[in-house]
Amino acid sequence: MTSKEKFDLAIIGAGPGGYVAAIKGAQMGKTVALIEKKYLGGTCLNVGCIPSKALLSNASVFNKIKHAESFGINVDNVTFDYGKMKGRKDDVVTKIRGSLGSLLKSNGIKVFQGTAQFESPKELKVKGEDNAIIQADKIIIATGSEPIDVPAFPCDHERILNSTSALELTELPKSMAIIGGGYIGCEFASLFAEFGVKVTIVEALPAIVQAQGKTISNALTSAFKKQGIEIKTDTAVEKIDKNESGLTLHFKGGESMNVDKVIVSVGRRLNSKGLNLEKAGIKEGPKGAIEVNERMETHVPGIYAIGDITAIAMLAHVASHQGIVAAANACGQDAHLHYNAIPAVIFTHPEIAMVGLTAEESEEKGLNINVGTFPFQALGKSVATNETNGFAQVISDKNTGEIYGAQVIGHEASAMIAEMALAINNELTLDCVIDTIHAHPTIPEAWLEASLLANETPIHFPPKKIKP
Ligand SMILES: Cc1cc2nc3c(=O)[nH]c(=O)nc-3n(C[C@H](O)[C@H](O)[C@H](O)COP(=O)(O)OP(=O)(O)OC[C@H]3O[C@@H](n4cnc5c(N)ncnc54)[C@H](O)[C@@H]3O)c2cc1C
Repeated sequence: MTSKEKFDLAIIGAGPGGYVAAIKGAQMGKTVALIEKKYLGGTCLNVGCIPSKALLSNASVFNKIKHAESFGINVDNVTFDYGKMKGRKDDVVTKIRGSLGSLLKSNGIKVFQGTAQFESPKELKVKGEDNAIIQADKIIIATGSEPIDVPAFPCDHERILNSTSALELTELPKSMAIIGGGYIGCEFASLFAEFGVKVTIVEALPAIVQAQGKTISNALTSAFKKQGIEIKTDTAVEKIDKNESGLTLHFKGGESMNVDKVIVSVGRRLNSKGLNLEKAGIKEGPKGAIEVNERMETHVPGIYAIGDITAIAMLAHVASHQGIVAAANACGQDAHLHYNAIPAVIFTHPEIAMVGLTAEESEEKGLNINVGTFPFQALGKSVATNETNGFAQVISDKNTGEIYGAQVIGHEASAMIAEMALAINNELTLDCVIDTIHAHPTIPEAWLEASLLANETPIHFPPKKIKP
């Protein structure tokens, strides 16, 4: 039976964009409907951030054990059961999904299980487990994205996998090619290489993680090579033959290689099809993206879009932040979003994190900058914990000292980046970091040291040699 219900705010998609917007709307006293066709938590919780990091944390424990001897701990005959590791990943996801359901309930949000499409700018039809016509004063589109399938070698999810089916493996192959050296492909490379899979990254561009700039790309390339990960750049896969012994990848130019499995990680398709956007009066932008202003509102007043579907920055924390801004505006406030301090993390081994401008971007913008780069080899905590690979880098204005960007490669990079995100978001200067007492011995002291270096007043690093 199809029910007809009226809400102040309806949200399509319960990923990190949609569910956060729903909670914000409910907090502001509105009646909220949240419509989801699959699982609460969306890509991030079910087939993205959380399951991949649960698996990567298995890899990180294994890596620690492999290096235990250098701490004087002898661990003989270390074995692992990848099926159990995958089971732990599933438990993590199920647990968080359950908590999310309770959280939404505690906020009085009504969840509809089904696929939503527009009937008009203020009306949605939901079809599925729940069937309903939902009328809402304001609507937020948060439908996210899905892995792209390449027609020349479509995923069969047994031997040719995408990011979703790769998370479902219960046994490891001997060899694997990862097509696409973006951050998702690189995280899978790091995961499987740690467990002894012979991994080759095949990237059509001249470098892996090219979008993140030269410093990051070069550092990750050299770390991966040391770990035995092969990287083929400027290499396009034309077709994949399936044979009894495995798969043969054929590259443009005639070369080929054999592997047991392939993960295709070449980008994401935006979920705008089937929404009947034309009935809402919304025109799709390039590749199905929904265009919004800095209030996250589309060109149709009262309809907002957030998260991957906007194709602005396809990250979970950006989706959530956009969700808060969109919901606040839908509830009558005037909130705006700025993108100059978006932290991004690549959870490889070593971890990589960045926020703001790179040195190249600053120079392209014509900014006069100082760059302070502090190697972890010179940091007490890193030496004590045997985590000396990598560095922390701060980019600041030569005259004012304002911090424009920061990159960090190495242990705890994902946690480290928060300090620099706070600094850049609040237009802080090198002096603000230098004047802040950093606990000792800790990894974040690297920011203090990198800022001192950018300021040309290093303490734990030799001064620049002054020419006689
Ligand atoms: C392997 C992998 C690892 C990742 N790791 C990270 C990471 O470490 N950090 C990070 O920030 N980001 C990461 N991401 C990206 C992150 O998952 C996305 O940016 C984020 O999930 C986008 O959130 P969203 O709310 O826009 O959309 P989604 O999370 O995609 O959610 C959209 C939801 O809408 C639902 N939906 C779609 N159409 C309809 C409809 N018509 N009716 C009802 N429901 C609908 C979908 O079922 C889905 O649940 C990763 C992604 C992948 C694939």
